[in-house]
This record gives sequence, structure tokens and C-alpha cells, in this order.
Amino acid sequence: MLGQAVELLKKYFGYDTFREGQKEIIENILLKKDVLAIMPTGGGKSICYQIPALMMEGTVIVISPLISLMKDQVDTLQQLGIKAAFINSSLPLGEIRRIMFEAASNNYKLLYVAPERLESENFIDLLKNITITMIAVDEAHCVSQWGHDFRPSYLKIKNLRDISGKKPIVSAFTATATPSVKEDINKLIGLENPFEIITGFDRENLKFEVVKINKKVPYVLNYVEQNKGKSGIVYCLTRKLTDEVCNKLVAAGHKAVKYHAGLSDAERNKNQEDFLFDNVDIIVATNAFGMGIDKLDIRYVIHYNMPKNIESYYQEAGRAGRDREPSECILLYSPSDIVMNNFLIESSGDISSKTNEYAKLRDMTNYCNTDKCLRKHLISYFDDSYNKENCNNCSNCLSEIEKKDITLESQKILSCIYRMGERFGGNVVIDVLRGSNSQRIKSFKFNQLSTYGIMKDYDKETLKEMISYLISDGFINITGDKYPVLNISAQGNAVLRGKKEVYIKKVFNKRTKEDNTSIV
Ligand code: ADP
Repeated sequence: MLGQAVELLKKYFGYDTFREGQKEIIENILLKKDVLAIMPTGGGKSICYQIPALMMEGTVIVISPLISLMKDQVDTLQQLGIKAAFINSSLPLGEIRRIMFEAASNNYKLLYVAPERLESENFIDLLKNITITMIAVDEAHCVSQWGHDFRPSYLKIKNLRDISGKKPIVSAFTATATPSVKEDINKLIGLENPFEIITGFDRENLKFEVVKINKKVPYVLNYVEQNKGKSGIVYCLTRKLTDEVCNKLVAAGHKAVKYHAGLSDAERNKNQEDFLFDNVDIIVATNAFGMGIDKLDIRYVIHYNMPKNIESYYQEAGRAGRDREPSECILLYSPSDIVMNNFLIESSGDISSKTNEYAKLRDMTNYCNTDKCLRKHLISYFDDSYNKENCNNCSNCLSEIEKKDITLESQKILSCIYRMGERFGGNVVIDVLRGSNSQRIKSFKFNQLSTYGIMKDYDKETLKEMISYLISDGFINITGDKYPVLNISAQGNAVLRGKKEVYIKKVFNKRTKEDNTSIV
């Protein structure tokens, strides 16, 4: 059986050998077992259901969330001489009818459908007439509310199996699944005693880097200049930032386009094509860009802001280096990223999902603050059996960290925040610490506090950066609906009570001893 699979791999796709996991998955599908496969982006999931489709009598229904991806995949399959079609809302009704008619005559090996199609009774009726051999669920994490792209229509997949006369097998594929998402996939898609496989999450060609930095634009301009002619993605948290960063890159003479949900379909498609076909080097985008993008030679992915969780980060960063050549994934981190993410969480979802989102945000923040191996941190999040300690290909493993004790300064700042009632933002705190004569400070009687003027020898910028550091390392929390308010965290309290010390880390590149990043 597998011999034939290898022949088909060569004949249709031109490859000589299977990649990690592909052989086992295909083998189990051919043995009529359900499958749950967790493979990294670029791992080669599609072939795992396309080859069995060629080997089995009947049609494989592929549930896929992205219209653009579907069209590309079907075009490629048709060019290879494989009978495939897709149905989604981008097609005119007449065309949908034609495809449904063909499908009812069992004329397709693969039929791609958007999950929303499962809400249509007409479509479900059609499926009753087709010999369905397998339901392949792409991006299966979309079934889970704990995942990062919940699509309610995925919940309809479970019933599909019962509709079809002969019980089809179900295979589910995803690049990102924590244990709770995995549990949901099993339960909500209704996998029965599946063969489960997690293939190497480790993408050894990717170098991971976290840069703590407040002034990000100069960093990006410089990085892009140093990497001229290479393909890269710059992810921003909001549409506004996407526009701003893209405009700055273009103004500096770089070939960049933008991509976010605020653009027209036509402009988005054009920009995406320009990037895919190398008419431009850089795409600046929100997280709306990327799922299913099959561009192999992306050399870097810069996150201009910390994303909301590790799943999103690993998936987005993982778009770099799918050709397995060395590539860089850089996350630019500043405390304002926490504020922005808090705001986004606060303005969406119900209470239980918010609690979950906040927990994920904390995990993400811990990634930015750890001084241990970044790769281990990321991979252990998905696969707790990962036990390598030092990858030698992330900014922490490649750096020496020099620590400077700022416990005393931190105690002064924290006690000032405390005495001011934890009701103000950073600028007012700095004014009090530096002993400002402003009317506002006097009207609150802050000039009578014992902390008034105790840091008058420090300039504003240094204090700002120290506060940033205390925020990013979790000594100060930011709250407040309208404007950010500084609060002392449990860790910060420990500093005030003399139970914990604070060190600023200066990071040096081990090889050059060059100062890479510095907060103060
Ligand atoms: P995923 O869906 O897991 O992100 P794809 O199925 O799009 O990944 O595959 C990523 C790339 O890897 C594609 O260009 C595909 O042709 C290629 N690929 C898949 N399987 C193999 C293989 N066995 N050998 C070499 N390349 C492969």
C-alpha cells in the first residue's frame, strides 16, 4: 500500500521521500483510522490527505477556512491532473450548482468546502448522494473556543459523519494545539480513537529573538535596510500601526505593501499577490494576513508588537523559512504592547473567554521576559516532552547577560506610586519623583509626599525607561479604562518589602560582545 503512496508522491508532487509524519498518517488513513495530526506550518499537511484521496474510491471532503487558500490548492491539483473542486461564497450560484451536480456523480477525488457551507441544508442533502471516504479538517483548531481562530461552523462537522451512508473516516490537521485545544478537537469534531501524531515542532532553521525596545521604527528601518532584497513580513497589532509602519518603509525607499481588513478586497488581493510574486519585498500586515500563504522563501518575520498569545506568535513567526533555509523571527517588545493587548481583550468576548485570553497574554509576556532558551519556551508550550535546554539559535542562547542592580531605584519608584494612591500614569509619577513645580502636582498636594523630588537627579528619559522595565518585567501592572494607570503587582510589593531584587539586563552578543539591546 505504502509503495503505491510513494509512487504517487513522485508522480504527482515530484518528491522522492516523505517528510516526518506523512508516512504514518497516510498509513493510518489507509487502515481506515481517524487521525489527529499536529504538524508545524510548512510541515506538509496537504499531501497527507491528498495522497489517500487518490488511493481510495470516492470523494474526500476537505473543510478549509480560507477561500483564497482553497482556490490555490484546487488550481494546483487540477494542473496536476487530479479531479478537485471547491465550493464557497466566492462562486456564482450557477457554478455551485454545476459542481454539486458533478460531485453527486462522484466525479471528484477532493471537494474543498468552507465550514460555513455546512450550515446549508441543500449542501447537506447533496452530501447524502456522494460516496464520502474521508472528511479532512484543515486548521482543526478553529473548532475550539480555546484556540485563536474560533469558527462556530466547525461545530457542524461532527454531524457530517452520520449523514453519509458509509461511515467516512475523519482526519484533523492543525499547526497549533495546546493540550486543551487538542482535547476539544477530539471531542467536538468527534474523532473516534484516533491515531495521534505531533511532528517536530522545532523549526531549527528559525532564529528566535526578543528585542525590548521603545523606539521601534528606527529598528525596523535599519533591519530592512540590512536585509534589502529579502522577503519579510512585519506584523502589527492594529490597522493604524500597519499603515504607519508601511508608510515609513515606503518613504525610506523600500518596496513595501500593507494588508489588513480595512482595505478593499481588490487592494488586499493585489498587495498579497505583489508580495507572493516578489514585486515587493515586504508586507506590513495585521494578523488577517497569512493563513495558508504558500511562500517558501520568507527570510524574516518581525512582530512590531507582542501578539496576544503564543499560538498566534508561533503560527505567524512560522511563516518564515518554509524552504528550511536560515530565517529570523524577531519580536519587538515594549510595555505599551501589554496595554494594547489588554484593551483588545477588554473590548471583546465574554467573561470566561476574557479570563482565558488574559492567561494566554501572560504566557506570551513570560516569553518576552524569560532569559532562558526562547525555542524551549515556545516548543514546550505545545509539546511538554521537549527537553533540549540550549538551542544556540535564539537571542537568549546567543547572548551574555550583564545584570545591573536597580533595586533601590525601583523601591523609590514603587513607593512613589503607592503614596500617590495607584491612580496615575507614568508621566505624573515621573513629575513627582523629579520634584516638578507644576500646578497640577501642587493641586493634588503631591509636593508634600516623602517621595517628592527623591529622584531629581535622574532625567525624564531614564525614569521612563526604568518604569517601562518594571512594567515589562511584571513589577508594575497597567490598568485603567481611559488612560493607563500604574499599579504595584505582587512582585512589586515584594521589592518594596525588600524581599526581591531588581536587575536590569544588558544583552551582549556572545560572539561580538556588541551591545544588542539595552533598556536603560
Ligand atoms: P502545511 O499545510 O503543513 O503548512 P503544505 O502542505 O502547504 O504545508 O506543504 C508545504 C510545502 O512543503 C509545499 O510546498 C509542499 O509541496 C512541500 N512538501 C510537502 N510534502 C513534501 C515532501 N514529502 N517533500 C518535499 N516537499 C514537500
